[in-house]
Amino acid sequence: MRVTSVRLTQGKERRWYIKNKLQRMAKFPKQAIAHKRLYHERKSKGLCIKCGVRPLISSGAHRCKRCLAIACERMAGLKQEAWDAALSHYGKVCSCCGESRLPFLTFDHTSKKARDRDRDQDGAPISGTRIVIKAYRTGKWPTGIRISCFNCNCGQARNKGVCPHEEERVAIRA
Ligand SMILES: [Zn+2]
Ligand SMILES: [Zn+2]
Ligand SMILES: [Zn+2]
Repeated sequence: MRVTSVRLTQGKERRWYIKNKLQRMAKFPKQAIAHKRLYHERKSKGLCIKCGVRPLISSGAHRCKRCLAIACERMAGLKQEAWDAALSHYGKVCSCCGESRLPFLTFDHTSKKARDRDRDQDGAPISGTRIVIKAYRTGKWPTGIRISCFNCNCGQARNKGVCPHEEERVAIRA
């Protein structure tokens, strides 16, 4: 596994990280102080802050190569778990064409209203996939989300919200 970098500390994620950190510190002040001391002790010696044994990847990094790989793998595993659970919940089939091969499937919003509901602080839309991965943590699946295959998802996006399949079906019916 090739690890280039983990950038959890930019933009939105940075704000999320800081908010969580402050909450955690308020809850467990003693542990927070002890953790901070350990962090600086290891960092000043150029050691991984996680294991405290192996050297850091670079002077700007927090972990050794091995601990970083473990963290990345854990993140990937968590995403996969959320993905599988969401697929089971929303039905494992494209809502437009019936595609059921799992690697083709994505999550998208059923309406403009649902899309507008899921925006970040800056007003940028959040993708259906991110929404369901987040929802997995809270255990509450949002409404207004459906499964579309990648084809149908792109087709709607580039065709004013109507999949070309749908237009063809209307044409055949008429
Ligand atoms: Zn380490
Ligand atoms: Zn489809
Ligand atoms: Zn379609």
